[in-house]
Amino acid sequence: MSSTKQDRGNCKTASGNHFLVDCNQFYVSCEQVFNPKLQKRPVVVLSNNDGCVVARSKEAKALKIPMGAPAYQYADLFKREKVHVCSSNYTLYGDMSQRVMRVLSQFSEEMEEYSIDEAFLWIASSDPIAFAQEIRQRVLQWTGIPVSIGIGTTKTLAKVANDIAKKKDGIFGFCNGVKIDPVLEKLAVEEIWGIGSRLSQALQAEGICNAKAFKDLPDHWIKQRFSVVLLRTAWELRGIPCLELQELPVERKSITRSRSFGYKVTALAELNEALCSYADDALQTLRKEQLLPSFLTVFLTTSPFIDKAYSNSCTLVLPEPTHYTPAVCTLAKDALKRIYREGLPYKKTGIILGGLVPEHTFQPDLFQLRSSNPQKQLQAMQVFDDLKERYGKSALRFASEGTLQKWRMQRGSVSARFTTSWNELLTIRI
Ligand SMILES: [Mg+2]
Repeated sequence: MSSTKQDRGNCKTASGNHFLVDCNQFYVSCEQVFNPKLQKRPVVVLSNNDGCVVARSKEAKALKIPMGAPAYQYADLFKREKVHVCSSNYTLYGDMSQRVMRVLSQFSEEMEEYSIDEAFLWIASSDPIAFAQEIRQRVLQWTGIPVSIGIGTTKTLAKVANDIAKKKDGIFGFCNGVKIDPVLEKLAVEEIWGIGSRLSQALQAEGICNAKAFKDLPDHWIKQRFSVVLLRTAWELRGIPCLELQELPVERKSITRSRSFGYKVTALAELNEALCSYADDALQTLRKEQLLPSFLTVFLTTSPFIDKAYSNSCTLVLPEPTHYTPAVCTLAKDALKRIYREGLPYKKTGIILGGLVPEHTFQPDLFQLRSSNPQKQLQAMQVFDDLKERYGKSALRFASEGTLQKWRMQRGSVSARFTTSWNELLTIRI
């Protein structure tokens, strides 16, 4: 474990906490906002073409309808139990997500959208619980969406706290003298964020059954038998931050790519470049995971702390699910054009790809008119990805991503890539 990571972590925890804000049954809540009759009723939302269950209200969960249940197998139960069935409305969910995110962005400049319905905020407050109550109340009042908030000095602890918050009154924090150990003692190892079923089985075989026992293991033991990655999780449970957001395991419901610009960007052309670059990066991950997005949300924002602050988003549904970069970029640019206002100093743009369907379960629409061949598109993207993997990310890119990429984070004082680039090897003079 490098000391710099620990140092940076410690200086961050000195006066603040990570807040994980998670929308409760997000898709269902979106439906309930506009149809209050659905409150306190069993409601499910189905995937594309009404295939399988992708979201359930509490009441639907109580009927033991599993996530991913094929709709046709449960048709009788839906009828018998008067379950309200919604087709997915990704345009609505994407937009509601951005409304929630916009409200959240008012509470902290340090915010990371983790998925379509979750965000981490880093907040320094002398009374975190009261602060969380205010967040919760404002999101509910302004968007109609109920959220649960977990608070901790590390992201992993905030996640643990969030799971408890969901079962309790919506807020739980490891703060105000709340002891961590008794909570971790009741948490099974397989429920720890980032510990999958294989790892938890291996830990259980060693007699490690709960999160406290895992956290208290000696560093060298974890490192020797498992990995540095697992050691970091243990550190996080001890309250020492050492996870970067990108390193967190994602329960993939959507994928977000966004970053603050190196300077304020005003030109649409530059925003387009950044957007296409983020889109391709996200699509590359989805291609690797063999997932196809059904819709995209593009967002654009100035700093919320300036005069004439502006923030907007646009969600568009893809004609059919695809991870072909040119098709997604064309639609993304269309979305950006709709929300772009001239002359403003933009701080950030980004893209969310959601409504993910596994490649192998996707059935193309027989009647969809195509000017292109999906098989050929897939092959082209495979070659593209292979080349990037082999020669580095910057070896190849779409022209739409731009060549200069001035909007990237300022890295004027970045050191050379001593160990990974032949051109930047350390020079020694004798
Ligand atoms: Mg959620």
